[in-house]
Amino acid sequence: MRILIVEDEALIARDLATTVESFGHAVVGVTSSGEDALTLAATQQPDLVLMDIRLSGSLDGIATAQQMHIPTVYLTAHADDETMRRAATTQPAGYLLKPFDERALWSTLELAAHRSYLEHQLQISEASLRERNAELEVVLRAQERRIIELSILGNLGRALTSCATVEQGYTVIAHAAQQLFPEVAGGLYVACHTPNTLDPVVVWGSAPHPHPPLHAAHCRVLREQRNFLGAGTCGGCRCEALPPGMSTDALCVLLSVAGETLGVIHTHLMTPDSTGVAKALQRQLAMALGEQAALGLANVRLRATLREQAIRDPLTGLMNRRYLEETLMRELRRASRDCYPVGVIMLDVDHFKRINDTYGHDAGDSVLRALGVLLGGMVRAEDVACRYGGEEFVLILPAAPIAVVADRAEAIRNAISSLEIAHDNLALPPITASLGASVVANPQASISDALAQADAALYAAKRAGRNRVVTQEPD
Ligand code: GH3
Ligand code: MG
Ligand code: MG
Repeated sequence: MRILIVEDEALIARDLATTVESFGHAVVGVTSSGEDALTLAATQQPDLVLMDIRLSGSLDGIATAQQMHIPTVYLTAHADDETMRRAATTQPAGYLLKPFDERALWSTLELAAHRSYLEHQLQISEASLRERNAELEVVLRAQERRIIELSILGNLGRALTSCATVEQGYTVIAHAAQQLFPEVAGGLYVACHTPNTLDPVVVWGSAPHPHPPLHAAHCRVLREQRNFLGAGTCGGCRCEALPPGMSTDALCVLLSVAGETLGVIHTHLMTPDSTGVAKALQRQLAMALGEQAALGLANVRLRATLREQAIRDPLTGLMNRRYLEETLMRELRRASRDCYPVGVIMLDVDHFKRINDTYGHDAGDSVLRALGVLLGGMVRAEDVACRYGGEEFVLILPAAPIAVVADRAEAIRNAISSLEIAHDNLALPPITASLGASVVANPQASISDALAQADAALYAAKRAGRNRVVTQEPD
């Protein structure tokens, strides 16, 4: 042990030093004052202090020991109760009575050494326990985070299955990306118009403004058709998702299914000082997000396409009869609840068979297509234009009084008679149509009542010579 001796009686001090050294310990200093002892303790860092309780200076042995925080053995010739109580508060390593006995000194030093060894061992195990605890804490936090991430990915999959439109799908994907990478900014880019240009549809975080589209020529992810996850601006290429001059870690995930590019999730400002492990985890997570998002989005698109196909007439682009019946039922119910009329116009092309017979079926189709465009453009957003079948069309005008319905029918009739239709670079002769205009005011009316009323008016128009509107006044 390295021992400091604090003793104001020079003879005893010298005797102590000699004896201590004879036991194989090192004496790192001998002093008679408390103040000097503090300085020596600070510079020499002894393992043990042999401290006389009574010192001549302003600090006695106990006051000196209190400031030192080094194991101390007190030397005393005689001490009163109060002194012993004060000494005890410093938790000394032992006491030695003066004049000291060599054997007593030897055993006291051995005990102090043993105690110091034990305390040292205790400190080491406490420190390693704290270290292990801290490591365990990190592992636990990471596991908690993984569980949260898995549930975000699971929720994303579920949420995408209930999206009716791709736009809803974009929002759901962006929300998941934000939850998974909360400290980064980014955006979801999708091919809205051409496969080589991706437009930002949702952006988040403190992303740069404005958000220009990504072009395949500049975007490595699009060019190479694989994810880019790493440092630098997409591996050094000019990334349009970042502001000019900005270089940061980027994480770009390709959303692709069966070789078709659906979009790219671009994120940046990944925690730049994250460790290799953290980055690897972020990459894995980004890939899982990409796969889940791409599959889910492809599904949403497929469902939206199927729904569209189920309700839209492919030749005219108008809604089909099935959609008409669903909508009419809904509108009739709403109208009876809110007490407003529902206008119904039924339209039939006059002598359409002649067009087919004279110019061919394809020419007939061209006429129907042109009518689809015309009717689609002549209804308000809240109205519905449908191809009812063959060359018959139905228009639903919610909350339109009979005068408005009749006017609209007349305007349509007029527009049809002025329509110029060409087929195979050949101008077809003008066409005309007959229209039945009606409103449903009876709250009990069914779909067939509503359609039969308009059909009766249409039939009347045909009988009256065609190319006209017959208005069925409400009961
Ligand atoms: P009217 O003035 O009495 O309505 O006479 P019309 O010739 O228009 O009526 P008719 O019911 O006799 O003939 C309708 C024709 O429409 C018969 C059918 O072949 C034709 N048609 C039905 N659907 C289509 C279609 O999708 N494309 C084409 N080109 N023709 C169709
Ligand atoms: Mg007809
Ligand atoms: Mg017909």
